[in-house]
Amino acid sequence: MSKQKSGILSWYFKSNLAYRILGALIIGSIIGMVLPKNPTLISIIQPFGDLFVRLLKMIIVPIIAASLIVGTSSIEPSKLGRVGGKAVFYYAITTLIAIILGLMCAFIFKPGAGLDLSDSSIAVSKTSNAPSLSEIVLNIVPTNPISAMANTQVLAIICFFIFFGVALAFCRENKDERIKEAANVVYKFFDGVSEVMFKVVHWIMQYAPIGVFALMFVVFNKSGASAFSSLANVTFTVYLGLVLQIILVYCGTCLFIGLSPKSFLQKVKDPMLTAFVTRSSNATLPISMDTAENKMGVPKGIYSFVLPVGATVNMNGTTVYLGVCAIFIANACGLDLNLGHYMTIILTSMLAAVGTAGIPGAGAMMLLLVLEAIGLPVEGNVAIAYGMILGIDAILDMGRTSMNVTGDVAASIWVAKTEGELDTDKWDRASKNL
Ligand code: ASP
Repeated sequence: MSKQKSGILSWYFKSNLAYRILGALIIGSIIGMVLPKNPTLISIIQPFGDLFVRLLKMIIVPIIAASLIVGTSSIEPSKLGRVGGKAVFYYAITTLIAIILGLMCAFIFKPGAGLDLSDSSIAVSKTSNAPSLSEIVLNIVPTNPISAMANTQVLAIICFFIFFGVALAFCRENKDERIKEAANVVYKFFDGVSEVMFKVVHWIMQYAPIGVFALMFVVFNKSGASAFSSLANVTFTVYLGLVLQIILVYCGTCLFIGLSPKSFLQKVKDPMLTAFVTRSSNATLPISMDTAENKMGVPKGIYSFVLPVGATVNMNGTTVYLGVCAIFIANACGLDLNLGHYMTIILTSMLAAVGTAGIPGAGAMMLLLVLEAIGLPVEGNVAIAYGMILGIDAILDMGRTSMNVTGDVAASIWVAKTEGELDTDKWDRASKNL
């Protein structure tokens, strides 16, 4: 065994995974930016990045299903209601703060002000597939759970497995021994599936640095440097809002419940980095769950519910982005914003964030909803400004997705701690090994 470990790749497996990923991210971005745009090279490197995303997506459905079944069936139904209520409360408050922070940053830095779009003739077609509010709510209930799983409709999958898990909890308590025994077999089976899935996550993470390098190279080689310079202000403003959200809200949450914000940030870096490069909250779910389980001591009964729901409805980063970009476009198009506009942006951004899918670029579609709501239908100059934002969407999406998943993980520790269920020994042990 020890001989095998001293092979040529031993340095790779022995070095800290988070540093390997971070190194790959930095090197991939720099090489991508420095080299001239090269479609042939992009087509060669892109599959390595796509492979990473595919590997993560491969385990989303089984990991959500197994963790939710085991999680919900191992806590009392009455408690599940409380955990859900707390999570939704935390999501609503942090989303509200996120949009206010975004608007404040935009108010100070005025992205888009002074842009003269009047003589440009670029046009962006208006292709909004944004669902209505009632559709968002109705789509939570799957008409066919198998098709929901086949199409990775996360909210619908969660809905079905919560029913499954709660029913299983009742069956495990049944007075009839036959039912009780059968239910316990089902429980044990899914408990095993969940452990096996975490093993797979660890293997996938060994490939992560290569995937990350490829993903970053492609983004920056395609549009990096030029995109950064042309829209530096809006990029800066969005990222400032995101950083403020981390410091004020997530670190504040940690202080509030007596945990070290520094440890939190160290522990959450794997999901943050994964979200940054995959630009998908859904694809990051397995890593967020692994972090909550193994580094933070959040019980399965809590994270198995809070994290998948959060990955679908809690989009703090997306709300910051929606606020800043709506103001960028309004400024660029010379719209004088009044209090009514700001209130509309706050409300529609919060609702739009709930309806944003946890996949790359979904937030950009929701921006159309917010623009419509403040009387800026996407045509003419608005279309041009929207097109500019779309041009750098990948860069903005990396930051906002990172924030989206950090918000979910913060919610899971807040709920666990306030329920008196955070395994602080596990938290401390994992802190020492960072
Ligand atoms: N990419 C984001 C996510 O997966 C959603 C968005 O585009 O805002 O969380």
